[in-house]
Amino acid sequence: MEFFEKLGNVANKTCKYTTQQTNRLATITKLKWKMSDCKAKINDLYTELGKIVYENNVREEMDDFEDRKNEHCKKIDKLADEIEEYRKKILKLNNRRQCPKCYTEIYTVFNYCPNCGEAQSNDDKGKDTANNEPDKNDENEKNKVSPGTDIKNDDNEDYSEFEEA
Ligand SMILES: [Zn+2]
Repeated sequence: MEFFEKLGNVANKTCKYTTQQTNRLATITKLKWKMSDCKAKINDLYTELGKIVYENNVREEMDDFEDRKNEHCKKIDKLADEIEEYRKKILKLNNRRQCPKCYTEIYTVFNYCPNCGEAQSNDDKGKDTANNEPDKNDENEKNKVSPGTDIKNDDNEDYSEFEEA
């Protein structure tokens, strides 16, 4: 009896876990999609900006040249900020962050950067609960990641650290 109860619990947990993983991957995919959308918009703005500069150069007087130029630059800045936000969210969903000193992507559980040794502030740990992050408070998951773990900078294809034993 007890055995089957246990088995049921495991199955339940695994099912829940898989759903969380699926949600997480879906969120990451969505964020990546938004990112490339922003990049495409930036490219369009660059093209327009180039045209404005060219036209201004040829005609030599474009009353609103500065305004139009600034407006485009502002839009590009905004989109770049947006991309940065998405990038950070994706990192977080992968339980990673960027070292503020050397910009290496490292696991959030690390107290020191394995690359440059910079102490990592853990202030933001656990703050963000709205991000579909499945294992934020799962100590077992945290313990699985040791400083000896191979750190890859390849985006998020490597989920081996999340696999249930
Ligand atoms: Zn570092």
